[in-house]
Amino acid sequence: MTQRMHLDQFLLEQARNQGAHVIEGTSVQKIHEKNDSVFIEDSGGKIYRSALLIGADGANSIVARNLQLNDGIQREIALESEIALPREIMYKWNDSIEIDLFSIWCGYGWIFPKQDHISIGVGGPQRFFKQIKEYNSAYLSQNKISEYPKIRFSGHALPIRKGFAPLTKG
Ligand SMILES: Cc1cc2nc3c(=O)[nH]c(=O)nc-3n(C[C@H](O)[C@H](O)[C@H](O)COP(=O)(O)OP(=O)(O)OC[C@H]3O[C@@H](n4cnc5c(N)ncnc54)[C@H](O)[C@@H]3O)c2cc1C
Repeated sequence: MTQRMHLDQFLLEQARNQGAHVIEGTSVQKIHEKNDSVFIEDSGGKIYRSALLIGADGANSIVARNLQLNDGIQREIALESEIALPREIMYKWNDSIEIDLFSIWCGYGWIFPKQDHISIGVGGPQRFFKQIKEYNSAYLSQNKISEYPKIRFSGHALPIRKGFAPLTKG
């Protein structure tokens, strides 16, 4: 997480250096198109008008929702644990990641080493939630790390865009 914050900060600085005007401390609330423009209302009620809008606002994108670009998106879910392991076990993950495919239908598991802990988790179609929970427990014990304390356990929505679902509009 710390590394991701550093990357975000780095990208923001690069954008600023290239002349981007950055507006912080507010969020996008509503978007609509009219004629050749797009209108964006922020949390302070201020309205911005533009010829072009790029939505880079993540899995629950308000841009995609307001402009009906969510059609054809399948929702998947992921369960993630962050676990601090003893140094001698962390060492094993120094230069590798693990991806486990199709232990459940259309699902996957992963182990990504971070600086001082691993991210381990599983994901798959929302309708298989019960099986995904079971798969999560099995995946942790299979890797012999269920006994180590979790720093964090969280659930995530994963939007999966299917086939030719549109990415742009207007
Ligand atoms: C459990 C899990 C583990 C992962 N692990 C890894 C990993 O180890 N390595 C890796 O490379 N990738 C990993 N990923 C994938 C990675 O996190 C995503 O691919 C990446 O973050 C997507 O970047 P993004 O910029 O599209 O969206 P995000 O990183 O979600 O950024 C969206 C931004 O938009 C902002 N925003 C949202 N709504 C609004 C609004 N209304 N107004 C203004 N701003 C708004 C948010 O604050 C946020 O800053 C993982 C994903 C999950 C779910």
